[in-house]
Amino acid sequence: MRESVDVRKGITVAGEHTPRVYLDYAATAPFDERLIQILQQASWANANALHAQGREAHRQLEDARMRIARALRCRQPAEIVFTSGGTESCNMAVKGLLPANGKPSAQHVVVSAIEHHAVLDAAASLKRYGYHVHELQPNRNSVVTAATLDALAADIEKSGGTVVLVCVMAANNELGTVQPVHELAATAHAHGARFFADCVQALGKLALNMEESGVDAASLSAHKVGGPKGCGLLYLRRGVPCAPLVHGGGQEAGLRSGTSNVPGALACAAAVERATAERVEVWECVTALRMRTVEGLAGVKAVHALRPTLPHVCILQAEDAAASICAPHDPVAGTDSNTAPVVPHILNLLCSGLEGETLVQRLDACGISASSGSACSTGSLDPSHVLCAIGVPKCDAYGSLRLSFGAGSTSDDVDAFLHALPQVLR
Ligand code: PLP
Repeated sequence: MRESVDVRKGITVAGEHTPRVYLDYAATAPFDERLIQILQQASWANANALHAQGREAHRQLEDARMRIARALRCRQPAEIVFTSGGTESCNMAVKGLLPANGKPSAQHVVVSAIEHHAVLDAAASLKRYGYHVHELQPNRNSVVTAATLDALAADIEKSGGTVVLVCVMAANNELGTVQPVHELAATAHAHGARFFADCVQALGKLALNMEESGVDAASLSAHKVGGPKGCGLLYLRRGVPCAPLVHGGGQEAGLRSGTSNVPGALACAAAVERATAERVEVWECVTALRMRTVEGLAGVKAVHALRPTLPHVCILQAEDAAASICAPHDPVAGTDSNTAPVVPHILNLLCSGLEGETLVQRLDACGISASSGSACSTGSLDPSHVLCAIGVPKCDAYGSLRLSFGAGSTSDDVDAFLHALPQVLR
């Protein structure tokens, strides 16, 4: 059966159109139709070929690199390496930034416990070669502090180890919390380690200035800001050595072999430029939608107990779920402040006594696309590792629902969600 997606709000299956509300921008943004012309007009030639068509493709590729470097405030275009997306860029940084010499058994890699699996699993894969991998715990505001990193690095050094790489994301994909990347990078460098920041969720939300950020490497992905899937990049600070993951024809200065995706690079450049240029406007619009949601929750009859807690987690309890399967628990009791900075496009709701997958399915039945923090792997649902890391008990963490907004979101989307909520929490 042929299925076609109607740009933002509708899905047509076998000729029948159903309107949709899309609240899953952190998973992917709708493709920006303005990029179609760019894809169509880009060179199809091999950018490594010596003939005129190849030279034109090469010129276009380098133009894309230069524009991205400018938008991200890099020192030079050569700091941009094109990849297939965020996952590949994270893998490249985690595996490629390790020192070329020295015994793996004396080398320690530190990753925050709230990283995306592209980083967590890439780091875990290093254990097989003898590297030690440590998880850096966030505080209960889901912020990883420089002091915690400093203490962990000092412990590792006391026991004779060397910290070679530290990975902490710029903005978390489940809670939206912004991490103090600049301070963390300085702390990592003070211990002689390299620093990598996964910036996939920060693009188009935070002002990215690679030159001043202090990071050695950063990952970005085009599809999170309306670009095509399968296009991303790694920012690699000038002079930072990195081993390639993919070997072959030596493209991307030998860092990432494979015939260059020129149309993808041009569309990626346009998406990055637009996300950067429209950042403040989108931030304001998305902040208003987030507030409308949080305020609206209080007026939803089925919501028995709304306890706004951290700026990034709302606890909901269905009226008839008062005798919840979880012991009453306030995941923020004892925290020192509610001031963790967040990117406003992500809002996490904890629905006590319900499973995230069920919530997503019920919303889906109401025509609303959202996602849960639970990862469905091998048929069993795991609670969100991010929520568990900030101290939410497993039984509560199962009920995580992530709403995420973007440039195309409207107040009607929020109202549709609030209207559907009583049915969803039934
Ligand atoms: N890092 C973060 C924080 C993400 O949110 C994602 C995607 O959700 C990725 C990495 C992976 O990016 P991609 O989908 O481009 O592989």
